[in-house]
Amino acid sequence: MALKITHACINCDVCEPVCPNQAIYQGLEIYEIDPALCTECVGHFEAPQCQQVCPVDCIPLDPDHAETREQLQAKYEGLVSVLGPR
Ligand code: SF4
Ligand code: SF4
Repeated sequence: MALKITHACINCDVCEPVCPNQAIYQGLEIYEIDPALCTECVGHFEAPQCQQVCPVDCIPLDPDHAETREQLQAKYEGLVSVLGPR
């Protein structure tokens, strides 16, 4: 399941550089997450790095993008084949 950033985001900029998949970007109003690139950090870390650094706890799981761990692992492997290891 990808994560999403809610409107509680204060645009503090700290999550974008910690994402190993470059899934986080500055949107029109707040930071956003590309669900095609977010693996919940599967393949890189034990826990979602963006959630750990967000000071206002505004990055929940996105129920609109439900995925199993196996699907997340496959997404990670697909990204590595395109982007190379991080
Ligand atoms: Fe990036 Fe990991 Fe956050 Fe997904 S959970 S947006 S891969 S840092
Ligand atoms: Fe927004 Fe949280 Fe990212 Fe800061 S860490 S830019 S508050 S989502």
